[in-house]
Amino acid sequence: CGIVGYLSYFCPRDRQYVLDTVLNGLSRLEYRGYDSAGIAYDGNTPDETRIIKQVGKVSALKKLVKEQEKDVDFVYQSQFSMAHTRWATHGEPTTSNAHPHRSDSNNTFTVIHNGIVTNYKEIKTVLENKGVKFQTDTDTEVVTKLIKYIYDSQRGRKLEFHRLVKATCRELEGANAFIFKSIHYPNEIVVFRRGSPLMIGIKTDKNLDIDFVDVEFSNDVEISDNKNDIVPDVSAKRAQNHLHSAIGGDNQSIEYFFSSDSSAIIEHTKKVLFLEENDIAHISAKGDLRIHHFQREEGMSSIRSIKTL
Ligand code: GLU
Repeated sequence: CGIVGYLSYFCPRDRQYVLDTVLNGLSRLEYRGYDSAGIAYDGNTPDETRIIKQVGKVSALKKLVKEQEKDVDFVYQSQFSMAHTRWATHGEPTTSNAHPHRSDSNNTFTVIHNGIVTNYKEIKTVLENKGVKFQTDTDTEVVTKLIKYIYDSQRGRKLEFHRLVKATCRELEGANAFIFKSIHYPNEIVVFRRGSPLMIGIKTDKNLDIDFVDVEFSNDVEISDNKNDIVPDVSAKRAQNHLHSAIGGDNQSIEYFFSSDSSAIIEHTKKVLFLEENDIAHISAKGDLRIHHFQREEGMSSIRSIKTL
């Protein structure tokens, strides 16, 4: 129901700030209604993601986080957090069904999600037949297991994070918005929207005049040779009109705020990039933001700009 994310680069913030930013953002989304709430954030090393979630109010989650998180002074070069209020569509409102969801007990892939994956049962059945085990009743958990499955089937190669998300999201039907975090891609974030709103607020001292350029990209990596496999051949020539833009990435301090609703962002920045349908936004380990387009549709604009709210 409500998504809030935060990511900073070269902008030393203590953990208290990183946690409060998304938890306070979540409070601003409470008016939308929800049954449970949760948070995921960087641990003390880039390959550790911590998750806290529970049924009930955001204020109760804040209390729980305060009790459980002792290292509030911790400062890391790049720091990440994301939080979610859930309005259950698939699976009862329980703590285990609350978001963030994870692929496994190491939190290898962690996801928050608004919307409904309408074909989750089919995907779940395919994965179960391959031996994948599920811990919750949600459509969202299927996405965490699917992305891990695709990652693990690369046979030694390693897709860039946004391509991995693309390979995952092309399997999904329904109206959805996601934030993806992975310990395989430290300090990187990928978000995707199709049918459900998602925006990125940007706070930085540098000039935000962005050059948006069309680039051809042809070197998508093939991750499955077996046509009957759950993962279709990603090398198919489907990405001719790949849209691509970049900001950041030059060691200057920058903060990104992600949300399904501008009310969670506006207190931090008025520079907001509204993602369009099928946009995949990738923030690299260096802190630069690139918008990739799933497949440009007829009539869709190739120029985006940061709008001032
Ligand atoms: N379909 C997901 C679930 O039931 C997300 C619901 C939401 O948007 O809050 O967990």
